[in-house]
Amino acid sequence: MTLEAVDVVIVGGGAAGWSAALAAAQSPASVALFEKLPESGGSSALSGGCLAFAGTDLQAQNGVSDSPEQLFRDLIEVGHHENDPALVQTYCDAQLATYDWLKGAGVRFSPVIETASGQSVPRVHTVDPADMVRMLKAAALATGRVTYQAQEPVAGLMIDESGGVTGVRLEDDKLVSATKAVILASGGFAKNPELIERYAPQYLEAVFVAGAGSQGDGLRMGTELGADLCDMTHIKGTFGKHPTDETNDHSLQAVYKGAIAVNQDGQRFVNESISYKLLGDAVMAQPWHTGYQILDQGIFDTGDDRVRILDFGRRLEEGLFYVGETLEDLARQIEIEADVLVETVRRYNSYVETGQDPEFGRTHLVHTHGQLCKIEAGPFYAYPSTAVVFGTYCGLRIDCDTRVLRPDGSPIKGLFAAGEVTGGFHGAAYMTGSALGKAVVFGRIAGAQAAVS
Ligand SMILES: Cc1cc2nc3c(=O)[nH]c(=O)nc-3n(C[C@H](O)[C@H](O)[C@H](O)COP(=O)(O)OP(=O)(O)OC[C@H]3O[C@@H](n4cnc5c(N)ncnc54)[C@H](O)[C@@H]3O)c2cc1C
Repeated sequence: MTLEAVDVVIVGGGAAGWSAALAAAQSPASVALFEKLPESGGSSALSGGCLAFAGTDLQAQNGVSDSPEQLFRDLIEVGHHENDPALVQTYCDAQLATYDWLKGAGVRFSPVIETASGQSVPRVHTVDPADMVRMLKAAALATGRVTYQAQEPVAGLMIDESGGVTGVRLEDDKLVSATKAVILASGGFAKNPELIERYAPQYLEAVFVAGAGSQGDGLRMGTELGADLCDMTHIKGTFGKHPTDETNDHSLQAVYKGAIAVNQDGQRFVNESISYKLLGDAVMAQPWHTGYQILDQGIFDTGDDRVRILDFGRRLEEGLFYVGETLEDLARQIEIEADVLVETVRRYNSYVETGQDPEFGRTHLVHTHGQLCKIEAGPFYAYPSTAVVFGTYCGLRIDCDTRVLRPDGSPIKGLFAAGEVTGGFHGAAYMTGSALGKAVVFGRIAGAQAAVS
């Protein structure tokens, strides 16, 4: 049975899907958005709510000087030059207008306070993530041009004789025609162990936290039509997750305040100031895929309960930290040989004193910020840390208009994609706020482009 045709069909109701729906409706086009779960929101609603924008009024209010050009340089550097510069440029060109557009839809941002992973200046703009999705959804529905169906998984794409996409097939075999385009906004595949085993076997033992719908449906639909994939080898977990914590609570980054990371043998294994995604790779290569962040009282006191990754106090209250009056006492509790841990800390402190870390080249607390400090005055703390996979940062190749591309670079007619289902933007690693940022920036572009296609 074919239901009434609309201009644009959207698969998935996370930040990318609702941004696309609002932008398409504003273009104006008629839109049908299908969400597989009883509630839309996806990983977006669970997320830390950090978005990376540059050159905003909130940065200026806090005396932060930033620009799209600086954001471009940082994104390319964090991505190890393996990201598609055209997509990065598109993000940088569109992000400021998207920030204003989100505010226009009622989204509220907190003041910009901290420098985060991969950022040369503070540019994390924080929202209540579930609220942001609700605002986008409400604004889209208020246009009167969007119909929304929850608990209605899209099972496949309809194509014509030329291979162009003409609509979608729902799970109950109902067909919905799209006169202009279909937008895949179905998120990543962190909840699909088979795909994780294929593309990131090194992370199989990590903790996985993502929306239950993150099963790679859009990836499958796109590749069935010959879409190309990119960045598939760059899936990364985030360092700093307690191994027994499967809540959507974020990781803890005591390392960015001066802690060191040691493995179960009591040895440092990485320059702790690099992106917490690269730290994720490093910890997964350690025995038992785990380690500890080691800090003293002075570092502990610099925690910040306004920032989830720096909220040491709450984690202490939750009993997630080990605490020892001396390093020897701490070592006994975490089953590391005491003299090995003491020697590791002594060596590190000597590097802080000389300003040279011959082992791993650490020069700052995080990225190029913050002066290193010694770990010397008890009590001492250890936070067990493995990696958590929040998302899959790779997927369908798209162009700057978000059209899905084949390996030869030709677009699949009538098919667009945005958000975590796409690859190419992050490259080898990810800057804090750039995944949610990518969902709204490219979701908005996808909606506008699909509506005029
Ligand atoms: C705990 C956590 C914290 C995070 N923190 C941050 C952060 O602070 N900053 C940041 O930049 N990134 C963060 N991320 C990553 C970021 O949230 C995601 O990459 C981004 O929100 C993805 O948005 P999306 O719209 O593409 O996908 P999603 O938000 O996952 O939405 C996809 C939607 O599609 C639906 N769907 C899937 N298949 C189908 C189908 N066949 N038919 C219909 N519907 C379907 C899903 O159910 C889901 O609702 C975090 C992720 C998690 C899990």
